[in-house]
Parts: sequence; C-alpha cells; structure tokens
Amino acid sequence: MGRGTIEELRLLAAKLSGKVVQNINSTFVGGGVAEILSHMVPLLGQLDVDARWNVIKGDDEFFRVTKKFHNALHGRPERITAEDFALFMEATRKNIKELELYGDIIFVHDPQPAGLVSRKKELGNKWVWRCHIDVSHPNEDVWNFLQPFVVQYDAAVFSAPAFSHELPIRQFLISPSIDPLSDKNKELPQPTIDSVLAKYGIPKDKPIITQVSRFDYLKDPVGVIQAFEIVRKSVDCRLVFAGGTASDDPESEKVLAEVKERAGSNPNIHVLLIPPGSDIEINALQRASTIIVQKSVREGFGLTVSEALWKAKPVVASAVGGIPLQVKNKFTGLLSYGIEGTAYDLRQLLTNPEYARWLGENGREHVRYNFLITRHLRDYLLLFLALEHPQDIIYL
Ligand code: UDP
Repeated sequence: MGRGTIEELRLLAAKLSGKVVQNINSTFVGGGVAEILSHMVPLLGQLDVDARWNVIKGDDEFFRVTKKFHNALHGRPERITAEDFALFMEATRKNIKELELYGDIIFVHDPQPAGLVSRKKELGNKWVWRCHIDVSHPNEDVWNFLQPFVVQYDAAVFSAPAFSHELPIRQFLISPSIDPLSDKNKELPQPTIDSVLAKYGIPKDKPIITQVSRFDYLKDPVGVIQAFEIVRKSVDCRLVFAGGTASDDPESEKVLAEVKERAGSNPNIHVLLIPPGSDIEINALQRASTIIVQKSVREGFGLTVSEALWKAKPVVASAVGGIPLQVKNKFTGLLSYGIEGTAYDLRQLLTNPEYARWLGENGREHVRYNFLITRHLRDYLLLFLALEHPQDIIYL
C-alpha cells in the first residue's frame, strides 16, 4: 500500500481516540458480513480505534423469518405473514433487553439487528445502519416495515449507488473489500494447493470451473450445474461447487440436498461442504481453478468475485447487485446473463486462455485500486468522523 496510505489511516484513526465503535450483526461465521468484520475489527484495533463486535441472539424461527426478509429485500417473491413481523419484533425486544449497547458509535449490519435503534433516544449515541443487501427493488411490505427503524439512524451505508433510497438521513456509499493478507487471499505455495485438491479428491487432469458460495438459492447452484453441463458438451472440464452454511441461514441444508441430487454421480462435478473457517482451503480451491463463476441471481456485493479477481482469475459472473462494480464486462471479467449465457462465456474463456489471462490480470489491478481493505478502512474512519463532527470539514 505504501507508507502514505498507512500514515493517512493513522491520522484519521487518531481523531477517534477515546471513542468505542460497536459493530452488531447476526453471526460470527458464514457469509460476507462476518468475513469483513473478522478482518475489519482487528485492523481498526491495530490503528488504536476501540472497535468491538457483538452478535444478536435469535432462535431458528427468528432466523427463518430474517432469511425470508433477506430474500424479499433482494426482490425475491416471499410470503411474509403478520406472525413473521410479530416474531421479528419479539426477538428485537429480547435483544434490546439483553444486549449491552456501550458504543459511542453503534454500527448495525443488515436487517436482523436493525430494530435495536429503538434505544437511540435514551442512549444518545451515534447510530449507523450498514445495509449489505441489494435493496434496489425490495419487497415493499418488508421495506415499509424496516423503514421506520432505518430513519431513526444518523446515517445509512449502501454498497452501490443503485441501492440507495430516498431517506431523511445521511447516506454513504461504501463498497466492501477483501483483506489481501488474510488466509483467504494470501499467496499460497503450490504444494498447499495440491494437498487441498488431493484432500477433496479433485484431479488436476482438466480445467476446473469453481463457484464458492453458501448453499443458497440466490447463488443459483443448480443453474451453475446446468451451465456446466452445456459447456461439457464441447469442452472437457470439471466443476467444483464449494460451499458452506451460515448459522443465521436455515435454508442451506435443503439447498445442499438439491445440489447433490442435481449433480448425481457425475464424476466431473465436485460438491464440497466446507467447514467454517477453512480459509486456506477456499483460497487453494480458488487458486487451483481455471475460471471462477459466480452465477448469483441477486447479490449485495459478492466478495467471492473480488477474492477471485485478486488471484488474477478470469471470472464469469451475473450482472446483478454489486457484481458489475467488480466485473467491468470484457475488461476485468465477463458479465453473464442466464444459464445459456453463462455457458457461452465459460466456453469462450476455456477456449481462449490468453484472453482469460488478460481479464484476470486486469481484474487484479481493479481490485488493488478499489476493493482492498485499506480503502475500506479509510472510508469507515471518514464515516465515523463525519458522524462525530457533522458540521466540520475533516482536515488530515
Ligand atoms: N465462503 C467461505 N466458505 C464457503 C462459502 C463462502 O469461506 O463455503 C466465504 C467466501 O469466500 C466469501 C464469503 O464467504 O468471503 C461470502 O461472501 P459473499 O459476499 O460472496 O456472499 P454472502 O455469503 O455474503 O452472500
């Protein structure tokens, strides 16, 4: 990054001395939000910002409802009942009672803990709602239910311009990031990559197409298999679908079962259930791949895309949510449409390795300039300062 970047971060961080930033979300493991927080919180600590991280509590029923909210906010059809809303409110009331809210800045991530803001008036601290979801076309019922909470915050943060809404509070546009020095993204020696392939029984005999995603309908795992089957008619290759579950996602078992059934006994399809925290393994699988695919039907940002591009991998990804911020079509990857379109793009890259390599290299530079955690840290520090000093211009 260079010394200047680090010095700038230190200068900004020093202005927050004595302030506590309390992050709150709904899970410590699984999914992009936990991934970002697990690197952001310690790095803020290294800059001497007192950043902490708590999670709300919820039973299976609560997470069943919040998963429906999640899908509905992404614009997927969901039937949400009055009981669902009541259940959300009941869990919110419980968390309000049980969770200690000690931060000078309370940084709430996503809809699950959004209702905690009801305590803002009484506590008098600063509150930010960080929305990681593509809420460009939300289900109106769920958005209207959440909005009375959202407007109580001092500010809202969205990942892409298209996700912003007309709100009477300040809005910030901050895209997510990856940590290039983490186990998930650091360089790996070839023997480590080979040993992970061996562990999962993946031969290196032909090109490998990989999608890394939680087992979630929004990631369209069955669509990935269908696109792969089309590609296989003309190019011999393997598919790796590496996925996990998240403790706040009750649907994943069902999706995994469907994926396994669709894959059947095809020896070229490897469906892997990867335990949480297997960052080196995910890194190795991404690095072992010829092409990374991300065929999401909705996506807040899609950290997996930046992870792949950082590894200079050619990427074929759907043109949804935050993905077009990362994949500039035909320059840092290919934006694909539908099953046929994804298959077409995969085949194009498999048969043009030079073009694929060029896209991957451009992708790595794009991530270097836009989606590394140092840029993200700077944005968050400026956000915190803007809350603490709403009238001031911030001088470094
Ligand atoms: N991930 C993982 N193991 C898995 C599946 C996903 O570690 O089995 C990671 C993935 O590498 C990425 C994050 O989880 O860092 C997923 O973030 P993304 O924004 O792509 O999607 P989300 O799960 O938040 O919808």
